[in-house]
Amino acid sequence: MSQSSQSSQSSVINNEYEWCKQCQINFLTENFTKWTSENEIIDDFIQETQLNVDEYDNVLFEWILYNQFNVKEISKSDSTPVYSVIWEK
Ligand SMILES: [Zn+2]
Repeated sequence: MSQSSQSSQSSVINNEYEWCKQCQINFLTENFTKWTSENEIIDDFIQETQLNVDEYDNVLFEWILYNQFNVKEISKSDSTPVYSVIWEK
């Protein structure tokens, strides 16, 4: 993020993590058109939490497409399957 030229002078820049609030928000906003849960309420909720990011260590919600998960059934007992799910970006 620090390499972007989009920083405004009012940005909060964390040098230790090279994190810039305005660049982070710009990046997330640009991506608003690149994902959707296909549910407007959920999309609005995720976008609102992203726009409210304030520190580099804030929790951020993202919408992850199912096909980005590597899902494996790891056991089945009493007909209840247990799955391992790894997010492969
Ligand atoms: Zn910046």
